[in-house]
Amino acid sequence: MFCYQCEQTAGGTGCTKVGVCGKNEDIQSLQDTLLFGLKGIAAYAYHARELGGIDKEVDAFIHEALFKTVTNVSFDLNQHIEMVLKCGQMNIKVMELLDKAHTYKFGNPMPTEVETGTRKGPGILITGHDLLDLYELLRQTEGTGVNVYTHGEMLPAHGYPELKKFKHLVGNYGGAWQEQKKEFKVFPGAILATTNCVLMPPENTYLDRLFTIGITGVPGSKRIEGRDFSELIKKAKTLPELKESPGKKIMTGFHHTAVMGLADKIIGAVKSGKIKHFFLIGGCDGAKAGRNYYTEFAEMVPKDCVILTLACGKYRFNKLDFGDIDGIPRLIDVGQCNNAYSAIKIAETLASAFKTDVNGLPVTLVLSWFEQKAVAILLSLLYLNIKGMYIGPTPPAFLSKNVFNLLREKFDLKLITNPKDDLETILKK
Ligand code: SF4
Repeated sequence: MFCYQCEQTAGGTGCTKVGVCGKNEDIQSLQDTLLFGLKGIAAYAYHARELGGIDKEVDAFIHEALFKTVTNVSFDLNQHIEMVLKCGQMNIKVMELLDKAHTYKFGNPMPTEVETGTRKGPGILITGHDLLDLYELLRQTEGTGVNVYTHGEMLPAHGYPELKKFKHLVGNYGGAWQEQKKEFKVFPGAILATTNCVLMPPENTYLDRLFTIGITGVPGSKRIEGRDFSELIKKAKTLPELKESPGKKIMTGFHHTAVMGLADKIIGAVKSGKIKHFFLIGGCDGAKAGRNYYTEFAEMVPKDCVILTLACGKYRFNKLDFGDIDGIPRLIDVGQCNNAYSAIKIAETLASAFKTDVNGLPVTLVLSWFEQKAVAILLSLLYLNIKGMYIGPTPPAFLSKNVFNLLREKFDLKLITNPKDDLETILKK
């Protein structure tokens, strides 16, 4: 642990103040959690601001919370816990702001079937989360003969009316971010990285056809300024064409407004016992071992249960065939990690229909975490007092033993074990 008081490793050579300076491991852990949560909020606020959405309360919170992490400001554990939960509250606010900004600009997403094969012709693959970058790219490529493919977290873009109207937005290519090195190498066209998660290309592979914009940066890639994609389009036209190769079709676009259209059906199916349980299986994906848990868990979910999903963790199972229950799809892709707000809205609407709170619903959250937006979302769910969530594949390293135990006691937060046992425990309740 780095001690901001002593400015060295606490307990290390020369540290004489452990236990005296008042800074303990738990406060350090809460400050780290706050910093990670703030990074998540900043990502959402950045996207919203690009679309004209600003929230003064969120901005003020960012300043206050960052100030709270300055050296020798507060040694009060409870204050830090409150701040961390407030971070979750502010994250809901900023996700709502972004949701409104997206739907104002691109319309309400609707369930949409997306092609995962390729079309003959030159192509550009766009990855990351920035829908405004995609919109501008689609506008500038219209009529040029260049097709546009989404990668990773761009998949839910296909559900937005103002994006899907472009006929040359032809499909989704590949899987989650950690597959980039393999997938970008074989994609013959040009590639645009708009946000995280972006990987450094291995040498002599696709660096010469990789473009970065906004927040992203990869040394040796071409930089795009002012959303002028002319150089990227020119490059795509010089590269080998993609082949005509149809693929499996997958569904996305189950924004909360679309799921609300199914609300009566869903409520009826729960009341008649046709739907027994809902699982939200989602979050960030990653390359570390242990994440196959989520694939196996989704495969084991009984046929009378519905799976909601979001973020790039869904690529572990979104090409599997889950079928439906009386016309209600058993796999409902709510969208990007940016659309966690939609999942919260869906849960709140169901809770109100059944005159209970979210903890009273037959719903279990099985989350995978990796980067900082996932931390902000976890804090939002804790702020909403959602109990009994499963997280994995490993406990967040920034949570001290005491802080993690506190979350276990207060929110019944659980670590994943193995899909069979976890599923049995959940369904036994
Ligand atoms: S969901 Fe998380 S891991 Fe996946 S691309 Fe987005 S930020 Fe990265």
